[in-house]
Amino acid sequence: GPDYVRAIAPYQGGKPIAEVAREFGLDESKIVKLASNENPLGVPDSAKEAMARAASDLGRYPDANGFELKATITAKYGVPQEWITLGNGSNDILELAAHAFVEPGQGVVFAQYSFAVYPLATQAVGGRAIVVPAVAYGHDLDAMLAAITPDTKLVFIANPNNPTGTFLPAAAIEAFLKKVPASVVVVLDEAYNEFLAPELQYDSIAWVKQYPNLLVSRTLSKAYGLAGLRIGFGIAQPGITDLLNRIRQPFNVNSMAQAAAIAALNDTAFLQKSATLNSDGYKQLTQAFNELNLEFVPSFGNFVLVKVGNDDGAGARINLELLKRGVIVRPVGNYGLPQWLRISIGLPEENAIFIAALKSILAAA
Ligand code: PMP
Repeated sequence: GPDYVRAIAPYQGGKPIAEVAREFGLDESKIVKLASNENPLGVPDSAKEAMARAASDLGRYPDANGFELKATITAKYGVPQEWITLGNGSNDILELAAHAFVEPGQGVVFAQYSFAVYPLATQAVGGRAIVVPAVAYGHDLDAMLAAITPDTKLVFIANPNNPTGTFLPAAAIEAFLKKVPASVVVVLDEAYNEFLAPELQYDSIAWVKQYPNLLVSRTLSKAYGLAGLRIGFGIAQPGITDLLNRIRQPFNVNSMAQAAAIAALNDTAFLQKSATLNSDGYKQLTQAFNELNLEFVPSFGNFVLVKVGNDDGAGARINLELLKRGVIVRPVGNYGLPQWLRISIGLPEENAIFIAALKSILAAA
C-alpha cells in the first residue's frame, strides 16, 4: 500500500465502559464516561419510537437518497434537497471532502489543536497537512489564510473547536470566507453548533448560499444524542454535493439512523433540554476547576479542556488515576496537549463523581 497510508496513526476513541470495567476490576454500572462528547441524556424518546417503527422494515435496504430525512433538513434549514449530503456520522462528510477535492501531494490547511480526523482524512488521500499554530488554543484565521498555497485544496475549520472548545465569532469566519480563493473548499465543521448560546448563533446557511466553495457539516452525534447510530450531514451548493454524492457509499446511512434523525431534528424540546443541561454542567465543572486552581480553556462545546499538571506526564497520570476510580475522560497527548485532559459534560451526578475523584487524586499528589 501507499507509504502515506502506512504512516497513519489510527484514531483513538474514548475507552469503552466494558473494557475499563474488565481492566480495572470495576462494576460496570458505576462507571462514569465523560470521554467522547456524547449527550448524557442518551437517545431522545422521539427517536426511540421512530426506530421501533423502522425496525420492522430492516429487511429492506435504506433509502439510498434519504428522501424523507433530506426533506426534514430542507424544512429546518431552508436549503434545496440537492444541497444536502448525508453521512455515516459527520466524519464521513469530512472524509468525502478530502477524497473529492484532494490529490496526493496537495495541501490541506487546518489548525493546531483541532479535530483529529482532519489529519487522518488528509493522510488517507496522500494530502499534505499544513498545520497552522493556534492562538489561545483556537484557530488563527489570518495565519490560516496566509498558509494557503497555490496547491491547497481544502481548509478544515471546527467551530466550536474540539478538543479545545474555542469559538470563532461569525464576523471572523465571514471575513475569512471573503478572502479564501474560490479554488479552495472550506469545510466549516459545526459539530457542536447546537450548544452555542442564542446570542452567539450565526447563519452559516446564508454563507453557503453566497460561497460555492463552502461546505457546512453537522452531526446528530452530540446535541441530538445519536452518536451510536452514526449520522451527520453536509450542506453545500451542488458543485460540491454532486461530487460527494459520486464517491459516497450507496447506502452510507442506515434505515434506523435515518428514522431516528428525522425524529430528533424535529424534537426541539430535547435539544433545549440538552443545551440547558450542558450550560449548567459547564458551570458545575468550571467552578470546581476554579476552586482547585486548575487552568481551563473557556469552552463553547459540551466538554472542557483542563490542565491537570505542569509536566508532560500529568495528563496520562491523572487519567490513569481517574480510570482506577471508574471515571473515563479523554487524554489529549495525541493532540500535543500532554498536560491536559478533555472532560465531556455529563449529568450533574456524573460531573460530581468526576469532581470528587479529581479532588481526591490531586489531594493525594
Ligand atoms: N467534528 C468534530 C469537531 C468532532 O468533535 C466530532 C466528534 N468527535 C466530529 C466532527 C465527528 O462526529 P460524528 O462522526 O459522530 O458526527
